[in-house]
Amino acid sequence: MSAVHPKGIYVHVPFCRHACRYCDFHFSTLLKQIPEVVAAMRREAELRIPHETPARTLYWGGGTPSVLPDAEFRALNAVLRQRIVLEPDAECTLEVNPEDVTPDRVALWRSEGFNRLSIGVQSFRDDRLDWMGRPHRGKDAVDAVRRAQDAGFEDLSIDLIYGLPGSGLGEWQDQVGRAFELETPHLSAYALTVEPRTALAHDVAKGRTEAPRDERAAEDFMWFRAEMHRQAWDAYEVSNYAKPGWRAVHNSSYWQGDPYVGLGPGAHSFDGHRQRRANVRNNSVYQRALAVASGEDWFELEDLNDQEWFHEQVLTQLRRAEGLPRAVAQRRDLDRAWAKWVRQGLMVADDQGWRLNGEGWLWADAIASDAFGLEP
Ligand code: SF4
Repeated sequence: MSAVHPKGIYVHVPFCRHACRYCDFHFSTLLKQIPEVVAAMRREAELRIPHETPARTLYWGGGTPSVLPDAEFRALNAVLRQRIVLEPDAECTLEVNPEDVTPDRVALWRSEGFNRLSIGVQSFRDDRLDWMGRPHRGKDAVDAVRRAQDAGFEDLSIDLIYGLPGSGLGEWQDQVGRAFELETPHLSAYALTVEPRTALAHDVAKGRTEAPRDERAAEDFMWFRAEMHRQAWDAYEVSNYAKPGWRAVHNSSYWQGDPYVGLGPGAHSFDGHRQRRANVRNNSVYQRALAVASGEDWFELEDLNDQEWFHEQVLTQLRRAEGLPRAVAQRRDLDRAWAKWVRQGLMVADDQGWRLNGEGWLWADAIASDAFGLEP
């Protein structure tokens, strides 16, 4: 990978207390491996981040960063902070699960320099949390947000999941209402999907549980978008919504194609041009390789060719409120490829570029695929 001048630093903490039924992120529930894996992550930070590296954002995701014991949390954070020079008021986010947000932990996170928490609420209903395989209760989620606010965290985000099997629009409206009551300035809302090799995929295949239905998710999504507009929130990405001025800087930076360095098993990095890097999705392999700094068998580099780069731009940028800028098309005739969507009012095309519109947000994948295969 070329010299590192990242806008953001991502830290993937590959541990969770429990496996959620629907999740296909990289994580392990073998918490006893935490000390060795965190030691390897510190080593990776030392290898890949030169001293005095400027950065605009720091984001710890996973997995569940809030499962780290205090000693490992402090040790990993210390290495990062010694090497990175964060801009004044830089956004420093920690993904946390509600059951970990105790007064002591929240005070620790704040004293260690974090100013934003993204809280994995998913639902306020205990029966839905049980179905998802989440260990917390709806009440824990409310307490977590209140505790974070009491400790001085203003920049808070809540994750919610919609389109659950057996749910109706009324349930989703109630969930969103409960999130609003907590007055966080940011919400992320994701449709439940059945990803291959998850417990949910297995149970659906065996007929043990109902699969989520697209029409149900579409109804929740369209209502939610309209409601967020009505409340004057900034619907800045298909799954991300903020009060004006509270967009997530780190994630926005990904969607704009800015360079970032990702540390930890399963983390990705991007050089801002054409090169991606993927660390191995296996905690033991990662930890053993870093213990001896043994060459390159713990990550892969991928150079995107022109078409791959274009496809990726279409997929990510169409999901932003600003849409796909004309410069990205690079002489491809997207006006022709997307004419039918524009005629149907599902897209807007103007001097700036192309944006999804109305129910076009439900058709993002089909719209994107109409652009694939176009040569410059
Ligand atoms: S959804 Fe989050 S908490 Fe649940 S298993 Fe996946 S990474 Fe872990």
